[in-house]
Amino acid sequence: MQMTSDHANLLYEGKAKRVFNSNHSDRVLVEFKNDATAFNARKHMQLRKKGFVNCQISACLFEVLEGEQVPNHYLGLIADTCMMAQRVQIIPLEVVVRNIAAGSLCRETPISFGQELPAPLIDLYYKDDEMGDPLLTEARLELLGLLDREQRLEISRLALKVNSVLSTFLDKLQLTLVDFKLEFGCNESGQLLVADEISPDTCRVWDQRNTDLDGRILDKDRFRKDLGGVVEAYEEILKRIQGVCSKPRIYR
Ligand code: UDP
Repeated sequence: MQMTSDHANLLYEGKAKRVFNSNHSDRVLVEFKNDATAFNARKHMQLRKKGFVNCQISACLFEVLEGEQVPNHYLGLIADTCMMAQRVQIIPLEVVVRNIAAGSLCRETPISFGQELPAPLIDLYYKDDEMGDPLLTEARLELLGLLDREQRLEISRLALKVNSVLSTFLDKLQLTLVDFKLEFGCNESGQLLVADEISPDTCRVWDQRNTDLDGRILDKDRFRKDLGGVVEAYEEILKRIQGVCSKPRIYR
């Protein structure tokens, strides 16, 4: 399928993915691109194979979540870099779960880098590139009226469930899930689903087999910090996942 030339059906183009209409009104095609961006897209590069690797990792992780009854938008792969997903109305929130302090938590608080948190921390950000995805308070979240009370509780419950399922799964592969970002959306029936992607672009993952502080990084921090070997690191994660998971299903 020639996704890239299918402009008529293009619904949305983001930094790392394109979303297309499918033949069914309740489903969309999500294509993973090779573009890598950081620092609100001020840094931008093409990384060969990144779209493929991220699509495969996301598909496997969504299948792991599905096996643990975590509702998500993924339906199956339709090409190497493309998955079918339920159409959802995305809630403009970035839901970050942290197990170990890194990134903005260390820039914005005195908590030191690498410190294990006493319990998973959920940080909610308002998803808006122009505003730089600001961190929300509970009061501001309520003021924005993006969620009702039930959805607010459900988002926290699902985010913690995703964290425990994926942390346990990755730990068995000697990978540490430091933090990650989720997006949520509601499908046509109003069901809240984990949407978007779950990949080394949106997670911090450290290799337990490597004690070197930079060498252990297997995620987008390699790109942010110019460490090189970005796609090779993502491929290492995929290789370990493939060692325990069957190939992601093909959507028919
Ligand atoms: N993250 C993301 N998209 C964003 C912001 C963050 O996927 O727009 C992910 C990021 O890769 C990391 C986690 O969310 O795994 C926490 O990011 P953090 O708030 O520490 O910000 P950063 O250090 O990435 O600026």
